[in-house]
Amino acid sequence: MKKIPQYKPSEVEEEMLKVWSKENTFEASLAKNKNGEPFSFYDGPPFANGLPHFGHSLVTSIKDSIGRFQTMRGRYVERRNGWDCHGLPVEFEIEKKFNVSGKQQIIELGLEKFNQACRDSVFTYKSDWEGFFDRIGRWTDKDNAYATIDNTYVESVWWTFAQIYKKGLIYKGFKCMPYCPRCTTPLSNFEVNEGYRDDVSDPSVIVKFKLVGEDASLLAWTTTPWSLPGNSALAVKPDAQYLLISATADGSSEKLIVAKDRLESLELESYEVLTTMLGSELVGKSYQPLFAIGGIEPTNNSYKVWPADFVSIEDGTGILHVAPAFGEDDLALSQANDIPLINTIDLNGKVKVSIGLEFIEGKFFKSADKLVIEHLTEQGNIYSAETFAHTYPFCYRCETPLLYYAIDTWFVAVSSIKKQLKDTAQDINWTPSNIKEGRFGKWLEGARDWAISRNRYWGAPVPIWVNEDDDSDILVVESIDELNQLTDSAFDLTDLHRPFIDKVSIKKDGKTYKRVEEVIDCWFESGSMPIAQQHYPFENDTKFEQSFPADYIGEGLDQTRLWFYVLHVISTIVFDKPAYKNVLVNGLITASDGQKLSKRLKNYPPLQEVFDLEGADSLRYYLLSSAPALSGEYMRFDRDSLKDINRNLFMTLYNSASFLSLYTEIDDWKPTSLDRPTGLENPLDLWLVARVASTIAEVTTAADNFEIAKASWPVYKLVDDMSNWYVRRSRRRFWKSEDDSDKLQAYQTLHWTLVTICQLLAPWAPFMSDWLYRHLTEDIATAPQSVHLSDWPTTGESDHQILEDMDIVRRYVNDGLAKRSENKIKVRQPLATATLKGPHKISQGLNDIICEELNVKKVQYQQSDDISVYIDTAITPSLKNEGIARDIVRNIQSCRKEAGLQIENRIKLSLASDSAEITSAVDEFEKLISLETLTQHFSSRPEGYQFAKTVSVEGHELTIELEVHEA
Ligand SMILES: [Zn+2]
Repeated sequence: MKKIPQYKPSEVEEEMLKVWSKENTFEASLAKNKNGEPFSFYDGPPFANGLPHFGHSLVTSIKDSIGRFQTMRGRYVERRNGWDCHGLPVEFEIEKKFNVSGKQQIIELGLEKFNQACRDSVFTYKSDWEGFFDRIGRWTDKDNAYATIDNTYVESVWWTFAQIYKKGLIYKGFKCMPYCPRCTTPLSNFEVNEGYRDDVSDPSVIVKFKLVGEDASLLAWTTTPWSLPGNSALAVKPDAQYLLISATADGSSEKLIVAKDRLESLELESYEVLTTMLGSELVGKSYQPLFAIGGIEPTNNSYKVWPADFVSIEDGTGILHVAPAFGEDDLALSQANDIPLINTIDLNGKVKVSIGLEFIEGKFFKSADKLVIEHLTEQGNIYSAETFAHTYPFCYRCETPLLYYAIDTWFVAVSSIKKQLKDTAQDINWTPSNIKEGRFGKWLEGARDWAISRNRYWGAPVPIWVNEDDDSDILVVESIDELNQLTDSAFDLTDLHRPFIDKVSIKKDGKTYKRVEEVIDCWFESGSMPIAQQHYPFENDTKFEQSFPADYIGEGLDQTRLWFYVLHVISTIVFDKPAYKNVLVNGLITASDGQKLSKRLKNYPPLQEVFDLEGADSLRYYLLSSAPALSGEYMRFDRDSLKDINRNLFMTLYNSASFLSLYTEIDDWKPTSLDRPTGLENPLDLWLVARVASTIAEVTTAADNFEIAKASWPVYKLVDDMSNWYVRRSRRRFWKSEDDSDKLQAYQTLHWTLVTICQLLAPWAPFMSDWLYRHLTEDIATAPQSVHLSDWPTTGESDHQILEDMDIVRRYVNDGLAKRSENKIKVRQPLATATLKGPHKISQGLNDIICEELNVKKVQYQQSDDISVYIDTAITPSLKNEGIARDIVRNIQSCRKEAGLQIENRIKLSLASDSAEITSAVDEFEKLISLETLTQHFSSRPEGYQFAKTVSVEGHELTIELEVHEA
């Protein structure tokens, strides 16, 4: 085996990328298992119109690692990635590009132009993503990627939509939805979840509603004064107690009504309770409207007090301001009691001109707050106005404050299938396991109907056509074929997007059907990906059936209530099955100070810099072996740990391999197979083989269970043991000049160990492991070309006793070295005896190791329950001499290095000193010195050799001379 060249992470990684590309290693790894059992993986697609950044490295590493591991296990793992191409982020970019906003301006610009620009932009960053995947070592089938804009994809989404409709689970509702006025569309509750902000400052206002025909005012609390013009009712809790009080302030008094439990919220200085009554006694009373709203005629039910159980007496005043257009409960109350709905805000979030309130017309709803308060203060309707901080939702895409807004929306009736969702979820295995019943299970319990239509332009069109004359008569189309039949193929359906699809009208039985304007929530599309990526059921039946449910999916914790959820909802409705069997939820990386990664704060290193300095392997291994990252928690990025892995794992591994190759090249030794060596005798070999076997078992079990941190970390410990125990203890065995069987067994053992470590590292650190594997196996004709084409190592039979015994040996050694240190006797000084006290006697071979490590002539054994060592510290003249001789050997070795000698060079050596102590030691141990330093010719007089140096030994001068001894 030839000497292995220098290991430089980034150079090795670039080299391997070229090799993989030249040899088509990825394709070969797929071809190898073509007939193996499939292992199905679904890729949660990134939005194609954003750049990859540091935060993506974790999930990308996980996805790739699982694929590589299962491939080595013999499974056929298709690695199809996908691109999410629709939705608000794309439209948001294009609106900025054309400087338009809102429906009116987009329609004026022209939908065809707008959507074409969206289409052109979605793959802007595709090559950046592919470059990122390549460089971090993620193998994907790029040529076979799916994209949500493909007609085939859209058609399958339609089919999915139609199946849900056929089950009676799609309906249109006029509901108050969280609504983004900038994007002019409602959002689903799980999208809203993404955008809550704490400590948002808002008004906190108590408003006086004057009763008609009575000298008293009802007090109602609101944090949305802009909604007061939309007020059409007040609500009270019928069984709660209310007070009529006379409050005095600044010399004047007024009569106010408030819930008894909320009296203190008024912070009154002086008051008198006049009457106590139940809320039900207030019901039916009329109050004076705050504003004269234009264009809306009051009815008998306007501006009255209504009973409602949802009125809280935990906060506010116990009297609720009801604006049916802007609140879920408000709308429900209004629909149940025929209370007029006054919508004062247009679709862009601005106060409508038509309501005739000039002082706020055209203002953005939030900007109206202050003006409304001022107006009502002048009118004498404000009891108190303050500001307070609370949690408020913002659009997770464009950061505009949301409002609740009554609008027509299409829903999936998810709340009606909660039980089914929970039943099918039982079959999912979560890592970490607590998410199953926790974050995910709780979310399913509280599942709400899913708003799936968006009043937008760039998305899969909602496949509903409505009868022009009867909007309860609708057709839901499930395929292009069906649409062709319904329209007699009169339309071009090569692009199903708007505006083309908007022109498609259906004539049936003398009735005309027009498509609804909305597009489908892009989360519905990503939730349909198991179906749509295969264009099922129009093609690929078998492929779909084989790949569904997925054996594995994995994304960050934030996807629990997003992608993991929508996949589950859709597959449960359509197939009554979960969409995936195993899901690995990773945590999120934060900056080293715990802050969110931020481009603006530059609180993380550029990816390219990490690749160049520490390498992708170190980054991957660091992320994958970090427990928090793999247990759905937050993980602080720590560059020093990355450097530590580079040094202590990869460099140490390389050094051990380089050490082996140094000697095998000299001896012209070549490995002949990848098989585990047999017939080993040396306890160090037996121990290392057992140590590797136990690591294989540990890694395999953990990786099979998707516990990647547990699967990757043991290799680090193994490399440490191999280098700092096995190689260090075995050094002499490699030096020995004879080709005895002990040396050969050491070669075989270390070689097999290194190859196996490459295999155990391959999923997590694909570059270095393959590079090293190729060097280690280049002499073996039967070895697979790449570590990624090799089979995952098996545990085989393993000797547990040697593991236990070696553990005891290492404890003896640690204790013995501590005792030496306590007595201030350096390790180079040989001592006579060590007494081992322990539970059982160990073999002679292991005793020899202890003798060498503790530098004692012999060990003796005493039975004891505890493990400890007693060392005889008496130093005889001969032991003293040997200590000096060892010191001299060490000095000669460094002279050999300084003189530029090769390890295998034989030498002529002269040692000259005036010290009697030195000469006595040299006399007694001349043989030992010669043997250790490969001396062929020894002299105790100055000889004038090529290299000479005077050193100090035990405080005495010694002149060392040496030169190569030509054979
Ligand atoms: Zn928005």
